[in-house]
Amino acid sequence: MHAVIAIDGPSGAGKGTVARAVAAALGYRHVDTGAMYRAVAWRALQLGLDLDDEEAVLRVSREAAFELDGSRVSIDGADVSAAIRTAEIDRAVTPVARQARVRAELVARQRAMADDGPVVMEGRDIGTVVFPDAPVKIYLDALPEERARRRANDPAHSASATQALEEIAQAMARRDDHDRTRQASPLSVAPDALVIDTTRLSVAEVVERVMAAVGARGLVAAPLAVHERRRP
Ligand code: C5P
Repeated sequence: MHAVIAIDGPSGAGKGTVARAVAAALGYRHVDTGAMYRAVAWRALQLGLDLDDEEAVLRVSREAAFELDGSRVSIDGADVSAAIRTAEIDRAVTPVARQARVRAELVARQRAMADDGPVVMEGRDIGTVVFPDAPVKIYLDALPEERARRRANDPAHSASATQALEEIAQAMARRDDHDRTRQASPLSVAPDALVIDTTRLSVAEVVERVMAAVGARGLVAAPLAVHERRRP
């Protein structure tokens, strides 16, 4: 297994922006695991499946061919980069992510990604379940109103164009609540994680703190050749 930097936290805490910047600085691959759960939800809806039918959703996740390259996400050949960032998928992902066997399948794939090269992996359970031995674990958080404001201003998420701030905040609070209280791998802070409240910090300040933790653990940038090999 190569170096893993685990970044967890609720939505809107800044995981995506920070993970992308840290991965770019180090030449590591950036993996957004939320996109995998979203893509499975999208595919299950496309196939007309009942999202609570664990067998059916498990089959989708087992058979899925994912391509994750920065912010581009495809599943079974379909580019779903934009299609998975909608209010409909925000709702559909909750029943998918609560299913323990679906999680086990995606977690196995996430672990395999660290066999290929060093990664910055963001999600809800990366430091607690996927890589409990990750040398660097970061938990990003922010006040709910700030997280909703960021989501509303996120051009990648179509909810920002169609929903009022109050509606976004309520939907986010509901999803967070499901993520924190579900039985299988609930969102929680790993005991050895560095917790950063990003409410009043700039992206650069958060990245600086993460890079300090990375440096303290002796992790170094990937040699360019490794980075280039992963991005032909
Ligand atoms: O990070 P993002 O908001 O795209 O994640 C979408 C949903 O996927 C989360 O609300 C959560 O239910 C689920 N998820 C998860 N475990 C992860 C990443 C995401 O359960 N590692």
